[in-house]
Amino acid sequence: MSTIAFLNIGMHGRVNPTLPVVAELVRRGHSVTYHTSPAFRAEIESTGATVYLYPGGDQRLPDPPTPVTLMEGLARTAFRLLPTVLTDLRRVGPDLIVHDNACLWGAVAARELEVPAASSFTTFAFNRHVPSPTRGSWNLLAEATARPRSLQGYLRSRWRLRRRFDARKLPLLDIGNVRQPLNLVYTSRAFQPAVEYFDQSYRFVGPSIGARPVDPSFPADRLQDPVLYASLGTVFNADPQLLRTFATALAPLGGTVIVSTGQTDPAALGPLPANVLACRSVPQPDVLARAALFVTHGGMNSVNEATYAGVPMLVVPQGADQPLVARRVVELGAGLSIRTGDAAVEPVHALARRLLDDPRFRAGAATLQVAQRRAGGYRRAADELERYLHAAGPVRRPAPADPRQRR
Ligand code: UDP
Repeated sequence: MSTIAFLNIGMHGRVNPTLPVVAELVRRGHSVTYHTSPAFRAEIESTGATVYLYPGGDQRLPDPPTPVTLMEGLARTAFRLLPTVLTDLRRVGPDLIVHDNACLWGAVAARELEVPAASSFTTFAFNRHVPSPTRGSWNLLAEATARPRSLQGYLRSRWRLRRRFDARKLPLLDIGNVRQPLNLVYTSRAFQPAVEYFDQSYRFVGPSIGARPVDPSFPADRLQDPVLYASLGTVFNADPQLLRTFATALAPLGGTVIVSTGQTDPAALGPLPANVLACRSVPQPDVLARAALFVTHGGMNSVNEATYAGVPMLVVPQGADQPLVARRVVELGAGLSIRTGDAAVEPVHALARRLLDDPRFRAGAATLQVAQRRAGGYRRAADELERYLHAAGPVRRPAPADPRQRR
């Protein structure tokens, strides 16, 4: 049995798909460590992994969450965390490191310790045809020009990283796309755009959805069909006005309308129709298993979870890779999309009605559901990691010092 270390950044969307994989590896007898910040401790421990906490408490989300602020935050965090992470990993002695595709310190640690590494993509896989948000582009340049302090901070941290650690092979700019000889992508080949342009190192294992700890505060037994669900995810500051628009537009069409408000206080939405349930966080995969429609920001995990459940979507992208995800949902006939600026009550209501009434959307979502489920999910991800470990062979570790030679 092997020792496998997972390293991740502090975002729910990045952590969630890895949890069922970790639980599966533990079930198969491997020893798994997970290096993370305190907010994720409890849910990771419930998988059976041993948690190692990063120093300095929880990682702040980039504010605003744009490619350049994300790049700056990641490079700075990498430099700050690496000494502790390396000490912890030397103690653990992993045979394999699995890191998020934006977790720079995972990639650097693997090089420093000469341990095989796999990258975990909770986004699409990216290349020339599927541009990552941090890829060098006119948009990135324009944003960097508008945020000179973030750009300077990024360059400074990259320079310090390079001076102190083995940061060779990290992409200069595209740090949301750190690849390894094995790249696990948590969506199916059917949903990945331009899939024919990705080599064998990419394994499209499909949505990784397992049992999550039950939330006893959620009134699952009081929901009335049809359940309609709206969420803008956990990263983008959910605009209370937009969430209110969703609630008002969906209320006449639904039995129960559930609105997840994320970082926004539900009270900020003001008085809502009686059939609307607004709360900061809901057990999303369970809600989707019951839902007839999902109004979403198009976060990759939300969309993977919705397609796994076969639920048609109205996508209202807020940033990052979400416009790309929205386009793919529309292309595959699993939903519709609207820009935030156009998302007033009337149009949202009209599009939601269309999605509910026109059976072609349910059919599109059902076709995608089959492909997403066939991809294999967390069990396939665990198979791929085991195969990779087997092919890589044992890690060569420095021989322990001979105590007789000590003075
Ligand atoms: N999520 C949840 N409850 C909520 C809202 C979100 O469990 O009320 C989870 C959701 O299941 C998904 C993740 O948070 O796994 C959101 O990830 P996504 O990539 O969709 O969006 P992000 O939050 O990263 O923008």
